[in-house]
Amino acid sequence: MANVVDAPDGYAGSGFFATSFDKIIGMARANSIWPLPFATSCCGIEFMATMSPHYDLARFGSERLSFSPRQADLLMVMGTIAKKMGPIVKQVYEQMAEPRWVIAVGACASSGGIFDTYSVLQGIDKVVPVDVYVPGCPPRPEQIIDGICKIQELIKNEPMRRRNSPEYQALLESYNIH
Ligand code: SF4
Repeated sequence: MANVVDAPDGYAGSGFFATSFDKIIGMARANSIWPLPFATSCCGIEFMATMSPHYDLARFGSERLSFSPRQADLLMVMGTIAKKMGPIVKQVYEQMAEPRWVIAVGACASSGGIFDTYSVLQGIDKVVPVDVYVPGCPPRPEQIIDGICKIQELIKNEPMRRRNSPEYQALLESYNIH
């Protein structure tokens, strides 16, 4: 069944509805997320299930995956990331246009998971800022959908000016991203 999106907060009257520009843009962005799946191992298989008809991520406006960073606004990292892969994840993130968001899907992407070894990055937040962490090894599709819903809430409530704020610029600089 089609998911009907609620109108943002505002004032409704006979023949008119008024709200703020931030809320309209937030609603449109939140319901048309284009994810870039950066899947390196088993968690990626769970994401395939999430895209399948049974779980149907399309219900949330995200059926259009992007394998080009320039046409994506949500980086989903799913799987073990070796330290050698860290700069690649960062490069993909840098190639995405603002506004962009990141989900670390599963224990490996969030913290290195069970692989506390010399070769595995102990969480992708060592190289890029992360907005939502999805726990689990692997997380079920319901958990991945829950992560997407949390990203939608963040997007809906993000002020238009956040990306130009000194705090956001400082966050990027702490990752040496300019
Ligand atoms: S968190 Fe578990 S299921 Fe996901 S990539 Fe790591 S080992 Fe595989």
